[in-house]
Amino acid sequence: MVLHLTAAAVVDGAACSAAPGSLLLEVHPVIGRTGWVPDGCWRAETTVLAAGSPAEVAFHAAAATAVGASLPESILMPGLANAHAHLDLTHIGPRPFDPHTGFMGWIDVVRRARHTEPAAIAASVRRGVQLSLGGGVVAVGDIAGAALGTPRLEPWRALSESVLTGVSFLEFFAIGRGERRGIDWAGSALADATPRTIGRVRLGLQPHAPNTVSPDAYRWAVDRAAAEGLALATHLAETIEEREFVSSASGPQRRLLEALGLWDDRAAAAVGHGCTPIAHLRTELERARFVLAHVNDATDDDLALLTATGQSVVYCPRASDYFGNPARLGPHRYREMLDRGINVALGTDSIINLPPWTGAPGSESISVLDEMRLLAARDGTDPMQLLRMGTINGARALGLDERAYTFAQGSHLAGVVAVDGAHADRARRNPAESVMMLATAPRLLVVGA
Ligand SMILES: [Zn+2]
Repeated sequence: MVLHLTAAAVVDGAACSAAPGSLLLEVHPVIGRTGWVPDGCWRAETTVLAAGSPAEVAFHAAAATAVGASLPESILMPGLANAHAHLDLTHIGPRPFDPHTGFMGWIDVVRRARHTEPAAIAASVRRGVQLSLGGGVVAVGDIAGAALGTPRLEPWRALSESVLTGVSFLEFFAIGRGERRGIDWAGSALADATPRTIGRVRLGLQPHAPNTVSPDAYRWAVDRAAAEGLALATHLAETIEEREFVSSASGPQRRLLEALGLWDDRAAAAVGHGCTPIAHLRTELERARFVLAHVNDATDDDLALLTATGQSVVYCPRASDYFGNPARLGPHRYREMLDRGINVALGTDSIINLPPWTGAPGSESISVLDEMRLLAARDGTDPMQLLRMGTINGARALGLDERAYTFAQGSHLAGVVAVDGAHADRARRNPAESVMMLATAPRLLVVGA
């Protein structure tokens, strides 16, 4: 069928912005078992025939026979991409940050609170999928966390049964006395993970971070990823403790490795050379493209390296604020990164570091729209830029079809999201700005198949 939607506005992160606006979509609904979708959402193969002002769209030949629907208070935008999430931690819920125990105390909370049983891990991911779809998110870069230090495939399998698309990054730890064991465990998890794509979710590989994965284990990950076409992600340059560990082989992250009985001469030899965390990974960054979560801590030389090697950065604004990183590392340099041509996407990180839900019960969500709104309010960042970061840039980071996150003619849409409550006069001035100013939750109308 052909669907003709007329709304207060339509806007994407590319070239489409019209208020009032229309979409003309060719829609083939998926029949039968589709996976959970929110009320009022269709799962459908959806192709954009036309998008723009009602007059432009009405000109299309297919408009005459289309089924019409009017959404006069809604702004329509493409489905969102959350490029860094930990959906397996959803059951824990938001938790306050304890500045006395800091980042290390927080890691301890995660270690104690996370599920370790496969069925419980899968249930937590499914809940995370619901909260993502409830926030207009249709693509994720999800970290399949290593519960009990063991790489887990359950999060990937649970995600692949959902309507979300994206990458599930198999996480592993491998450093010091645990280096060989960590690589072996990750290797055997990979051996069990066939085929490499299930449903619409590809498998990726995530060496956790420079304080838990040795340079040799990073090299192993890059080799495996290159040989098998796996996407790569890692946490990088997140905290001041990480900088201290990498640069001077000291601080709480070293003490944690000592307490766990992992610290040895090899671990010691790899760090303590005065490098920044990004420079520490220079060799591997020069060999492969990563999805780099956080990068709260970056020098000019670091940014030059990220630019030259074509990396994607996933900025998680609420997570960064939660851990107090701007106060200790300075403001995040995402706008300079964008100016230098670095692909900067947005992520929510885990639900633990999100604020307690204040909306109506049952309407909770995990959404990068809230990250965009924070940046719009705090930094006055260009709303179109924010929309790009939460759609196209996220898709690019995850190796997805970027056009599916725009209303470009012929695009096979990953999703259509409505943001309700638009007053026509305000929407008319600047639809993207209205999306950022409105406080209403996004509503997923269509998710791609
Ligand atoms: Zn993370």
